[in-house]
Amino acid sequence: MGEKLKIAIQKSGRLNEKSLELLKECGIKLSGGNGKLKAEAKNFPAEVLFLRDDDIPQYVEQGVADVGILGENEVWERKKNILTVEKLGFAGCRMSLAIPKDEEYTGLSFFNGKKIATSYPAILSDFFVGNGIRVEIEEISGSVEIAPGIGLADAIFDIVSTGSTLLMNGLKEVKVVAESEAVLISGRELGEAKKSILDRLVFRIKAVLRASENKYITLNAPLSAVPEITALLPGMKSPTIVPLAEEGWCGIHSVVKEDEFWDIIDRMKELGAEGILVIPIEKMVL
Ligand code: ATP
Ligand code: MG
Repeated sequence: MGEKLKIAIQKSGRLNEKSLELLKECGIKLSGGNGKLKAEAKNFPAEVLFLRDDDIPQYVEQGVADVGILGENEVWERKKNILTVEKLGFAGCRMSLAIPKDEEYTGLSFFNGKKIATSYPAILSDFFVGNGIRVEIEEISGSVEIAPGIGLADAIFDIVSTGSTLLMNGLKEVKVVAESEAVLISGRELGEAKKSILDRLVFRIKAVLRASENKYITLNAPLSAVPEITALLPGMKSPTIVPLAEEGWCGIHSVVKEDEFWDIIDRMKELGAEGILVIPIEKMVL
């Protein structure tokens, strides 16, 4: 039997579902139900281990798992000897400093001599050392946002996505220290066989990510507008142009970036385009 790549993902929590979805979109089907520690991939030389996200950097360093999917914040905090292979574009969040909302924020020097509660002492300490500011760090493992209210700390450093948790606890975000998202990490010493499986996995992940950033677009246009419309649509190589039964018209097919397509569509309508369809792309291989 050939080698298998051991992929660690979060057992339950914010990253679990998206990690499984990504593997599925990469064509990796898992056998076995939920609640297990391990699942075999049916059609790819891999097995998935379900772990707590905090433990993934250590397990990957030790080779218990070969690769892992977790928030970059945990990678920075754990400082293990591992490689970040690919950013995955989900579970985005800020790591921010927050203070009681009635306090006046005077810039980073506000924190001089203050006590700050956090579950990320390493990242926080690096940040203040880098800025030459002395603070006292109070490490707590959860519910960091209640610390100022109960007199445990003057401020907090934590993950923020919408800011509603801060608001509910009478805090305001005053400084974004880092921006994190989910990443794929790997051990530094994978053998050749595992490295080549990892390459295949990364190739698939890239195709999936690219597809989610792009849309397939088709439209009908008067032949006279083709040069201007195709200039708006670079496509993978160049747009496909097909004849229509109606004289003087053609169909144009291309690929556009998700975050650009509204601007392009407005411009194309001005140029006389009709019947514009925007279609999701499942995989995109260059
Ligand atoms: P585990 O039991 O595996 O240790 P956890 O409680 O540490 O889980 P989750 O709350 O599930 O972790 O968050 C996992 C990751 O999701 C975080 O480390 C972070 O990278 C990301 N994330 C994105 N948005 C948020 C958010 N609003 N709050 C917390 N984490 C977030
Ligand atoms: Mg955790």
